[in-house]
Amino acid sequence: MEQFEKDNHKRILAVQHAFGPPGSPLQSPGRILYGEGYLMKQGRKKWEQKVFFLFNDILVYGSILVKGSWYKKQKIVPLEDVKVEDMEDSEKYQHQWLICTPRKSFFVSAFSLDEKKNWMGHINSCKQELLQAGNRQPGSIYAPSWIPDNAAQKCMRCFAIFTATNRRHHCRKCGFVVCNQCSKQKGVINNIHPKKQKRICKKCHQKSRDEVTSDKRGVRVGRNSYEDEEGEESSDDEEMQGDIPSSWLDTQMGTWLLGDV
Ligand SMILES: [Zn+2]
Ligand SMILES: [Zn+2]
Repeated sequence: MEQFEKDNHKRILAVQHAFGPPGSPLQSPGRILYGEGYLMKQGRKKWEQKVFFLFNDILVYGSILVKGSWYKKQKIVPLEDVKVEDMEDSEKYQHQWLICTPRKSFFVSAFSLDEKKNWMGHINSCKQELLQAGNRQPGSIYAPSWIPDNAAQKCMRCFAIFTATNRRHHCRKCGFVVCNQCSKQKGVINNIHPKKQKRICKKCHQKSRDEVTSDKRGVRVGRNSYEDEEGEESSDDEEMQGDIPSSWLDTQMGTWLLGDV
C-alpha cells in the first residue's frame, strides 16, 4: 500500500473509532478523508459546536463529547445530496452559510472567513467531481431551513404576536415559525420522516390535503439511509437561544488535505 493510502486508511479509522459502535463503518473503497474541523451549527434551540468531516463522497458530522477523540450522534449525508448556500454576515453571526440536505437544512458558522471559504469551496468541488465521475445524480429535494425563533416576533401565518403563553413552534414542512393555533395539525413529511406524524402549519396541511385529493404526490421517499435524528427531535416547544456561545473561543482551525480555496 502506498503511504498516502495507509495514512488515509488510518485517519478514516480514527474517525470511525471516535464515533464508537453506534456510528456506521466509514471505510469504503476509494473513499478519501479530505478535511475536518469544528463548526457552529444552528440547532432547534441553540447554536452548538459540532464536528464535521468532508470525504470525497460523503459529509459526516456529529456532536462532540471530547474534542478530537469522542463524538456521538453521527450523521452521514451523501455529497450529491448536499447543497451549500452563502449567507451574508450579520452583526451576531459571522462567516455563516447554509447546508441543505434532504432531511435537514441548517446554518453553520465558521471560525474565520478563510475557514468558511475552504468548507464551501471543498464541498462544492468534491461534489462536482463526484457528479462528473458519473453514476451519481445531484439531489433535488432539500428540507426547509428553520427560521430561527428570535427572527420571528409574530406568527408567520396569522401574525399573532408571540408571548410567554403564545409560544413559538416550527412547521416541519416549510420551516416557518408559527403559533400553536396555526400548527395544530400533524402530517407526514416524506423526505424527513416517512413514517411519523409531525407538526405542520395550517397552510402546509391544506396543501398536503389538496395534493392527496388531486393525487399528485411527487416526493420521492427514502432515497438514502440516514441516521435516526430522534435525539434532536425530542422537544420542540422551547425557544431557540440565538447567541453563539463562548465555547467558540477554544475552537481549533480545520485541517485540510486540500489547499486553501
Ligand atoms: Zn398563528
Ligand atoms: Zn408550513
